[in-house]
Amino acid sequence: MTTPAAPRRRLAWPGALMLLAAFALFLSGCTVNPVTGRSQLMLVSESAAISASRQAYVEMLAPAREEGRIDSDPRVKQRVQGITERVVAQAVRYRPETAEWDWEMSVIEDPDTVNAFAMAGGKMAIYTGIIDQLELDDDELAQIIGHEIAHALSAHSAEKMSVALASNLALATYAATGERSGVALTGAALAALVAVQLPNSRQMEAEADQIGIELAARAGYRPEAAARLWGKMAEKAAASQPVFLSTHPAPASRQRDLAALAEQMQPLYEEARRGSVPTHPVR
Ligand SMILES: [Zn+2]
Repeated sequence: MTTPAAPRRRLAWPGALMLLAAFALFLSGCTVNPVTGRSQLMLVSESAAISASRQAYVEMLAPAREEGRIDSDPRVKQRVQGITERVVAQAVRYRPETAEWDWEMSVIEDPDTVNAFAMAGGKMAIYTGIIDQLELDDDELAQIIGHEIAHALSAHSAEKMSVALASNLALATYAATGERSGVALTGAALAALVAVQLPNSRQMEAEADQIGIELAARAGYRPEAAARLWGKMAEKAAASQPVFLSTHPAPASRQRDLAALAEQMQPLYEEARRGSVPTHPVR
């Protein structure tokens, strides 16, 4: 398994100054999360995280895009997008202002990488390696997508960007890459790039599991698939560490907790199966 490649393009020199400016601009302290009610370290406001993530997302996908590996198989793209549109429609019910987000899901053709990620503002990607190596059915795929959408809904990117900035990680990354040429990233976008490679805390994982399984159930996907998915992930981890587990640490109790949640979610799933399931446009 490979870890996600560090951004290959280089920062223009003024990036360092912009990064320092970012510290001053985005200081907003601790806030209470609108979805989870938990107090989060928020040096970066969610709106700043969203605009920074838009830039970081383009940057992160650029190498694969240049090689024609984004959405290269229309069949896979259609499958992933169809599920994402149903789950996003439920996310929008959860947090209505996210209807304004420019939701996007890219499929990265990379059979060796077992990974998926979400950035602020609903910018997401899934690697073909996670779909193929774990042989995901639609219900399991919906659990991954629901989990990633839940991270985005809960402003976990802004929280991790805050950690990156507070611990000077973004600056250190900048220093390590040295003199740069090409695309200039703002300091906040650099923090967003660092953040997507930082592990989520156990608290964030528990939040994303709980919200994700509910969104997927409401979108008509079987809740028991969540525990099955993490079982497959654990099996994979016995052979080689999937990248996904380095950013989404799996507590030992995860499958048991998800199985308990699945029972609670079953009525929501059954209700969704009885009616027609709405969709929300996703790029
Ligand atoms: Zn996670």
